Amino acid sequence: METVSLPDDLMDLMGHHGHLCFGVLTGYKACKYAVEIIGVSENMKAVTENGSCGDDAIRVILNCTEENGRLTQKKGRQQSWSFYNPDEEEGIQLTLNPHLLSQLPADKDQAIRFILELPGNLLFMVESFSPDM
Ligand SMILES: [Zn+2]
Repeated sequence: METVSLPDDLMDLMGHHGHLCFGVLTGYKACKYAVEIIGVSENMKAVTENGSCGDDAIRVILNCTEENGRLTQKKGRQQSWSFYNPDEEEGIQLTLNPHLLSQLPADKDQAIRFILELPGNLLFMVESFSPDM
């Protein structure tokens, strides 16, 4: 059986989170994609809707936590993560592509590989985000 080799920062994240699950993996991908699009700053803030395992990814990968005031959790209709850099007044909201779940391989290792390798633009729907909305 072929095992999936995971990036170091994902291994680190798994150590904090305790396990590798769909939630933490999609949160990890959301962090990576957000940084790819808007870059990362020391003051980067994140807002998550319907807090899940994915929030741990934001705490570990981007150091956005409730304690340092950079992570806000709110209730909402869908699973989404918003990120913004206050200095640049630029933000994005990433929402998990709802069609994705039906395409996931049943095998867990294959599903992990599928998510890991899927480009952010297929995994998420991207909208602009303004924290004052
Ligand atoms: Zn989890």
